[in-house]
Amino acid sequence: STVLTINALHAKIDDAGTDKPILKGVDLVVPPGEVHAIMGPNGSGKSTLSYVLSGRADYEVTGGTVAFGEQDLLAMEPEERAAAGLFLAFQAPIELPGVNNANFLRTAVNAVRRARGEPELDAVAFLKLARAECKRLGIPDAMLKRAVNVGFSGGEKKRNEVLQMSLLRPRFAILDETDSGLDIDALRIVAEGVNALRAPDFSALIITHHQRLLDYIVPDHVHVMSAGRIIRSGGPELARQLEAEGYANLIAEAA
Ligand code: ADP
Ligand code: MG
Ligand code: MG
Repeated sequence: STVLTINALHAKIDDAGTDKPILKGVDLVVPPGEVHAIMGPNGSGKSTLSYVLSGRADYEVTGGTVAFGEQDLLAMEPEERAAAGLFLAFQAPIELPGVNNANFLRTAVNAVRRARGEPELDAVAFLKLARAECKRLGIPDAMLKRAVNVGFSGGEKKRNEVLQMSLLRPRFAILDETDSGLDIDALRIVAEGVNALRAPDFSALIITHHQRLLDYIVPDHVHVMSAGRIIRSGGPELARQLEAEGYANLIAEAA
């Protein structure tokens, strides 16, 4: 079973030639089977945390550790992290004119299968799998024939992202939903996708400042981030409290 354990994580970014510390000691444990939410005001470091976990090059870890099960996540290349079962959803899905969506998804799935030493899927086998997954998720499979995200509505892009996540069968999904102007339908699509994956060997970190998302995905734990640290953790009621009161009181108490 795969526990994500973040211990005293520090990270910085090079901001126009100057080091800018962003994460200043993040501690977090996400056991398998659990969904945790991270909330917090803009600029608190939520997206930075998700980038550091996925291995994005422009963020430098300056202290602390991240273990994924027995593995040292920070020592792994982004592809190795994906192969180990980590999935990071993109905030801004790319449009790829002329690239068939089914082929695009198959490439992503086969990259992970290769890295896991599993046989790759040919076009026929993949389509069968993708259609079954569409059916399970209630996604129209016509989406498979279109060019990647081209002319997709916001909701369709979210559906496609959920489909990709589901096809990759992640053990740990990180969804950063912060800056997107998600409407209620899109929130529900994301939530249903995560809820459909809920299982004893699946866990997720949902980064959001939409309290409403957490009406659909009921998290096991909610964490509040401010100035690069987690300043408060609680249950789903913490998200409702934040909705009612805002962050100011919590931040003042933590200071
Ligand atoms: P959040 O997702 O909570 O809004 P971010 O992780 O995006 O926070 O940003 C945290 C802080 O780091 C902010 O002050 C932001 O301006 C800064 N930051 C993030 N990325 C960069 C970057 N590429 N260059 C300079 N500063 C950055
Ligand atoms: Mg932000
Ligand atoms: Mg963000």
